[in-house]
This record gives sequence, structure tokens and C-alpha cells, in this order.
Amino acid sequence: MITANARATFSPEGPFKLTTIERRELEPHDVLIEIKYAGICHSDIHTARGEWGPVNYPLVPGHEIAGIVTQVGSEVTKYAVGDRVGVGCMVDSCRECDNCRKGVEQYCLGGNTGTYAAVDRYGQYTQGGYSTHIVVTEDFVVRIPDGIELDVAAPLLCAGITTYSPLRHWGAAPGKKVAVVGLGGLGHMAVKLAHAMGAEVTVLSQTLKKKEDSLWLGADHYYATSDSETFKKLAGSFDLIVNTVSAKLDINAYLSLLAVDGTLVNVGAPAEPLSVQVFSLIMHRRSFAGSMIGGIRETQEMLDFCAEHRIAPEIEVISANQIDEAWERVLASDVRYRFVIDISTMASE
Ligand SMILES: [Zn+2]
Ligand SMILES: [Zn+2]
Repeated sequence: MITANARATFSPEGPFKLTTIERRELEPHDVLIEIKYAGICHSDIHTARGEWGPVNYPLVPGHEIAGIVTQVGSEVTKYAVGDRVGVGCMVDSCRECDNCRKGVEQYCLGGNTGTYAAVDRYGQYTQGGYSTHIVVTEDFVVRIPDGIELDVAAPLLCAGITTYSPLRHWGAAPGKKVAVVGLGGLGHMAVKLAHAMGAEVTVLSQTLKKKEDSLWLGADHYYATSDSETFKKLAGSFDLIVNTVSAKLDINAYLSLLAVDGTLVNVGAPAEPLSVQVFSLIMHRRSFAGSMIGGIRETQEMLDFCAEHRIAPEIEVISANQIDEAWERVLASDVRYRFVIDISTMASE
């Protein structure tokens, strides 16, 4: 076994404590990664607090992982010691079902193996990136291009791919009008990516508070959804709406903003059901959809796209001792726009 330092929560309430966890010895296709940075995603909080179902403790969250390969298994062909790599929300899947074969491992029919709080094929409970080392099969590792620093690379592994995949799937491109609902960790990436894809980008946020930020991130327009005029003015205008908000919204109001054949895709996941008026779909042949992260191949494509277009998330780097505080700030929406843990501080008092 390989021992790693980690920050774990021992109950839904926390706090985080320094501990050690065991990583498996390298199988022939495994790589050992020395983690340099790990992003903090809202999902870490939902999962660790048991809001998405029961979990085991201690739990080490973190599925936005960037680091360096320090050891490779005997049959590894894709990576070598010293390579800059990333790991996102999943570390394995069956690799045999139709979806895995198509490269959409996130939709593996047997369920993908989550980077943390899942049981892997070796029967071990997975632990995530708030730790110094992780062992992952090479097929679930991606290469971080030279043009992207490791600290900003980390959030691309979840926030980046979660927004890139639906933008690509529903064809964000020049001539297309894309709206992004919510300007948090996911939303700010959606704006940057949709802008780089050439779409005309509108941010829909509750208040006018983030207007300046939005425009600077690449949005062309900004509207406050607390202003009821917004919904009248923008009715029937968007080809694609990416909803990054995980709170309950009046989804019919947002559907009414779609043009003919437009799609509203949810990447945020509210715990409560949403009630959709089918009439708002029928009216303009609209679609209401969902999307979850992206496959490994597409994650690599996203990283290469970000390097080519010089896209990086806006981050605030914190030390391991600040995780609890950072979580509170995420819950209070007091982050612009992603916290990233400097893993070199993992064992510091
Ligand atoms: Zn995430
Ligand atoms: Zn599968």
C-alpha cells in the first residue's frame, strides 16, 4: 500500500482533519500521481454532508485533481514519470458497455466509479483529491497541456468539462445565442467557453451584482432575473440555455426564453423535482435536457481547447487549513470563482 496524507471529514458536520489514507499498489495499468492542486466543487459538500445519500467516513473529497506522474505500472503506455496530468469526477467504469465504448464513460450502464465515496473494482472505498497522492488507471487520466498551469487546470476537470460537454453537444458556435443561468464556478466557465466557441453569450443572474464580472469574462449581455421585464424582453430568443443553478427555479419561465428548437440543459441538480409545463415545450418544439460531466476523450479535448484559447478559471488558492472556511464561503456564494487547495500545505499545522 502507498500511504498518502489527506484531509478528511469524519462526520457530515466536519471539520476537516489531517489523516493518512492508503492507496493501492500499482496494477500494471496504474499511474501514481503526486497531487499538486485540488479544486473545491459544490458536489464535494453535498456528498460529504450526506445530502445525496449516505456515505462512509472518514471521507476525502476532491474530484478536480492536477498533479505530476511519479510512478507508472509495468504496462502503462500513455504516461511517463514527470507528466503533468489530471483526474476528474470518475476513476473507472466497466469499459465494455455501449456507452463506455462510445467514450461516454460518465454514462456507463453499470455506473462509473466516482473519484471519491464509491467502491472501486478492487472493493476499496475511493478517496479523492484533498490528498497528496492518488493511484488511477491510465485510461482515466488526462494530460494537462503545457500552456495551462496546474492550479488553474484543477477546476477544469469538473467545472470545465461539465459546461464544455453540453455546449459542444448542443452546438454552441458563431451565430448561436447561448444563455448561462447563474454565475458561480460552473457558470463562469460556461461563459468563457461559450464565448471562445464563438457564440453570443448572455448571463442571466438574480441581481445586477455580477454584471461587470460577466462582461469581463466574455459575456455579450447581462440581465437580472429578479426583473420581470427580463423574461418579456428575452422571450423566444435563445438556442441554448445552460442552467448551472442547483436551487429550484421557475423552469417554465426559463423555457419560455428558448427559440424554436432551443434546448434548456440542466447541469446543476436541484434536490427537489421541477414541474415542467409540457405546453412550454410544445410551443416552440423546445427540449428540456440534462448533462453530466463528460467522457475521458472529451475531457482531453476540453483541456486542449482551453490551452489553445488560453482559457483558465478564476481561482483563489487556499491552504489545506482553510478548507472548512472555504466550504462555508462556497455555501454563501462568496467565491470568485473557484477555490483550489495547494496540496503542498496538506500536512502543515
Ligand atoms: Zn464537481
Ligand atoms: Zn460501461
